[in-house]
Amino acid sequence: KNWVLTRAMEELADDFIHLNQVSKRFVEGSKRAQIQEEWARSQAKYDDSQLLIDGQQVMQEWERPYMEAMARVVTETHGDVLEIGFGMGISASYIQALGVRSHTIIECNEDVRKQFEKWKAKYPGRKIDLVFGKWQDVMDGLGTFDGIFFDTYPLSEEEFAKYVIEDVTFGAHFFESAAKHLKKGGVFTYYSNEIDSVSRRHQRRLFEYFETATFSVVRPLFPPKDCNYWWADSMVVVRAVK
Ligand code: SAH
Repeated sequence: KNWVLTRAMEELADDFIHLNQVSKRFVEGSKRAQIQEEWARSQAKYDDSQLLIDGQQVMQEWERPYMEAMARVVTETHGDVLEIGFGMGISASYIQALGVRSHTIIECNEDVRKQFEKWKAKYPGRKIDLVFGKWQDVMDGLGTFDGIFFDTYPLSEEEFAKYVIEDVTFGAHFFESAAKHLKKGGVFTYYSNEIDSVSRRHQRRLFEYFETATFSVVRPLFPPKDCNYWWADSMVVVRAVK
């Protein structure tokens, strides 16, 4: 018992020492505005480098490298793919470039839906569908998939606290639904908001729902100085198989 406890304490100490090292490379970051409006009808402002909704930095260009890595994972079988959150359509474009039998996207913001319609026009003849609403409300009727790609943004301060700050990793609140809507052997991917590894509690949570999990570190990343949702120069992409 002593050995196990000592090991756990040494691991914690090691984490602190490591964090101290990598934090030297963090960008400064900026204060996030509070989420105040009703998300579905909040105006989405697009420019070349980012998507802002209700003052939130919802998606930015520098995230491309891990969007591509996740798209590679989710299209492994080139089968039926479900994607949660359209955003700027960066990941959706990678998924289309890599090729899938069908691509279903769940999105809950009106303006983002309009952006999706413009994007979809570039892919005539492809099987691409948007289901409008929150995944929490619309997923039940959708059946099962070969791959699921998860990249949402908290819709309220309550969600921010529950899903981002207090949870072991942002994807965890979606694990149960992901497992339910995957075929046996299907693959689920999301990014972990941990820097260059995943914690033991994160792994334990994964193994409640999935048979295997593999992790890859995507680097280097260049979040801008004023980014208020990520500070480090790497991110972990998770590939979990049912
Ligand atoms: N992967 C995308 C970025 C997604 S940004 C890209 O590469 O561009 C997150 C998106 O998730 C936003 O468009 C937001 O409106 C949507 N979203 C957030 N919560 C959601 C929910 N509960 N259900 C469906 N969509 C959601």
